[in-house]
Formats: sequence, structure tokens, C-alpha cells
Amino acid sequence: MDLAFLSNSGILLLECKQIGGRLRFHSGPAELRKVDEEGRTLAVYDCPVAQMQDQRQNLLQWLTMAGFRSPVYGVVVFANNPIIEEIKSGMPVFKLRETRNLIRHHIGQQPMINDRELNQIADAMISHYIPYLPFPLKIKDFIITPICFDCSSSLKRHSERSWKCIRCGHIEYKPYILTLLAWFLLLRNTITSAEIMKLFGLKTHKAARSVAEGLPLKKVGAGKASAYAADYKKLVSTSIVLDAVQTWLEHNRQTKDQYGSLKDHQPAAKDH
Ligand SMILES: [Zn+2]
Repeated sequence: MDLAFLSNSGILLLECKQIGGRLRFHSGPAELRKVDEEGRTLAVYDCPVAQMQDQRQNLLQWLTMAGFRSPVYGVVVFANNPIIEEIKSGMPVFKLRETRNLIRHHIGQQPMINDRELNQIADAMISHYIPYLPFPLKIKDFIITPICFDCSSSLKRHSERSWKCIRCGHIEYKPYILTLLAWFLLLRNTITSAEIMKLFGLKTHKAARSVAEGLPLKKVGAGKASAYAADYKKLVSTSIVLDAVQTWLEHNRQTKDQYGSLKDHQPAAKDH
């Protein structure tokens, strides 16, 4: 969820999108298509309305399991004023400048929950919140080579100290953090010293150790059998990780359009 707005009239989910240009909502399958002036498809995204409805159902289910009852409404808000060429009538899709009215309308509705219930729901939502790393959603294959910051393709050894992207030609000197993150998030939460050596073409365990020490990992085992374990909660609260993912998102504009920037995924402060 991008934003959950809690009031006595219920919960309003705002799914925020930063997709500009010409957009067409397509049904069967539910997709959002970005097109050029001739109508050629430039990009295809999951339908944000379907995504929001999914989140709405998940939240309703979570509320039921946690013993709460509240209506949940949802809307999709486009933050950067796209031209929406095709959309079925009645779709809950709005532009940024309509948000104020949406919220005003929502809080003006008949109260469905009292202040005590409202605060209980807010407290439960905040205590169940798990930070989320919007990464590495574009990488399709297993992580067997270092990956490119610019396009997430494989890097090939270029010189003693650099790698070159096989797709975009980008020269990379420090692919370690991004590649290790992809490993931990896609494969498993441990990596052995030998696996680090193989991944980056290193010759010694000492070199592998210095790579592993770039992230807040826990060392398990000793000597040649040693491995490093990642703790997701620790990763998402480490600035070096957040900075790397932020840079990666900035370089991968399309992914950013779809998932927002990392800052969008921090929980909003609760106003007491
Ligand atoms: Zn590349």
C-alpha cells in the first residue's frame, strides 16, 4: 500500500502512480498501456486499479483476522498528470489535484467506527508494518554474475578492477552491494565465501571477506566453510543498502514508475 488514510468513515487507500505520457486502461487482461502519439505501445504495466483492489481485499482480510471491522475504499492517484486516453467509466482513477477533494469527501461520509476503534486499527497497522525493499524486480535469471546498475543485465570482467555490462556497455567498478542484495533477495539469505569468490572472480577468501563486510551480514561457520547470513530487517534499515536501492531505482526509470521511489515506502508518522 502506498498510503492508507484512516478516518471515522473508514480506510481510504491511495495507490499512487508516477507514470506520465499517454495511457490506456485495457481490460482482459487488466493492463495499463503507455502509448506514443501514433498509438504504438511503449510500455505495459499491471493495471493499478486491479493492484489497488487486490490490496483492498488483503487489508479487509487482515482487518478481519485482527478482529477489526472497517470499510475499506481505494483509489488510484496519478501524480504527474498523464493523458488518459482510454478508461472505462466509473474507474476509481484520479489526478493529483483531485486528491484534496477526495479526502474531504471521504471524511465527510457517515462515521462507521469510533475514535477508540480508529486508534486501535492505526496502532495495529503500525506495529505490523514491515519495511519493503522494492528490488530487484526486473532480474529474471539466477544471480551467477555481477549485475549492472543501469540495466540489471550481466556484467563481464573487463579489467583487473572493472566489469562491463553485456547489454548497455556500462563500466562498473563496485558491483558488490547490488549483486549481493539480488542474491539474498532472490536466492537465499546466506552466501558462502566460495560463492562470493566465484560470483566476483576473486582468488582468496580474504578478498571474499572484504566484499561481505560491505553489508551488515552475520558470519556463520569458520575458515573455508564460513558463510554470511543476511537479516532482511537489518538490510532495510542500513543506509548503504537504502542508498544502493535508491540509485538503482533512479537508474531503472520504468521500475520506479511502477513501484514509486524508496521514500514512498516509508511509513507515515502517526499524528497523536
Ligand atoms: Zn547495463
